[in-house]
Amino acid sequence: MESYNRIIDFIKEIYPGEGVIPLHAPHFFGKEKDYLNECIDSTFVSSVGPFVDRMERDLATYTGSRFCVAVVNGTSALHIALLLSGVKRGDGVITQAFSFIATSNAISYCGAQPFFVDIDEQTLGMSASALEHFFEGTEQREDGCYHVESGKKITACVPMHSFGMPVDILEIKRLCDHHRVVLIEDAAESIGSYHQGRHTGTLGKFGVFSFNGNKTITCGGGGAIITDDEELARRAKHITTQAKVPHPYEFYHDEIGFNYRCPNINAALLCAQLELIEQILMNKRETAGLYRNFFESEFPAIRFVSEGVDKKSNYWLNAILFQEEAQRENFIQLAIQQKVMVRPAWRPMHHLPMFQNAWRDGLVNTEKVYQTLVNLPSSVRV
Ligand SMILES: *Cc1c(COP(=O)(O)O)cnc(C)c1O
Repeated sequence: MESYNRIIDFIKEIYPGEGVIPLHAPHFFGKEKDYLNECIDSTFVSSVGPFVDRMERDLATYTGSRFCVAVVNGTSALHIALLLSGVKRGDGVITQAFSFIATSNAISYCGAQPFFVDIDEQTLGMSASALEHFFEGTEQREDGCYHVESGKKITACVPMHSFGMPVDILEIKRLCDHHRVVLIEDAAESIGSYHQGRHTGTLGKFGVFSFNGNKTITCGGGGAIITDDEELARRAKHITTQAKVPHPYEFYHDEIGFNYRCPNINAALLCAQLELIEQILMNKRETAGLYRNFFESEFPAIRFVSEGVDKKSNYWLNAILFQEEAQRENFIQLAIQQKVMVRPAWRPMHHLPMFQNAWRDGLVNTEKVYQTLVNLPSSVRV
């Protein structure tokens, strides 16, 4: 306990000042107010406006994707990506139990069920070997991949780049392609993270981002879908705008759509934030370096989670792993008492009532990481 005080003192050293040290606070130091004023002065505050188009262009350029569709949040982006991947009622979708609830919720919105495979101890995201093992229990039929034990059609696979750490996406993609399962990357936490020079989200059929208030860059609430497929991008735009067929005055909708379009006012904020992303990423990388050096030199028994070889993390949320659950618990309580906002990882999905009966493998790493991980304050340091 004595020694954990040293960790808290260190956090206070790198985040000096009075009051609570948040886990991840947004930081506005660019043209945010100018762009918001432009929206208000022009009256274009809602779902059409020049900033929505610009947000889509800028994000496509930044990620190196051909197309981008802006939406109201990351959860709706996942929902649409799943629907456009052909996920239907009764299907199975492979994902992680170790993720924020949004991933599994979006699968449920489609009437499908999540199938949980374990995570990798290094990346903390989907384990390619666990996925390979899962596919051993499937068979190919005329219309796709079927899970033999449950009889479910497996339509899509949604790995998630936990806390910004890229998963082994090339290997995961190879497996999905081989078994004819659509790959969707939940890159909600990983704007600015790369695998072998390719931005996360660009290897899947779809990549999905969130710009919620706690993410690396934010627009209050917002999200985006990226894809290289022109027809799918067109479909995504269509069904996120109530499936309204463009016409000067007629209201004609050719299928069931959703009101998921990102308002211009949020897009304005995102455009300003995206101009700052290199500075934000540099600052966060520096913070990660400070944490890494500190733990390596003073607490070698605690593992600071780092990006792997060939990978570049945005270090959205820095994470450490204790050896035992009791140590994690002690540390969290001590930190909270001292107004340092640390937090454990999400309760794994199969612990929750909605997903307790979902298919899963042993989830050994999922349980272990859940029991021992703590996220540390990771806001931009000013
Ligand atoms: C933040 C997040 C989302 C979705 O976010 P919204 O709050 O709906 O924008 C989805 N998946 C993961 C893993 C997330 O962290």
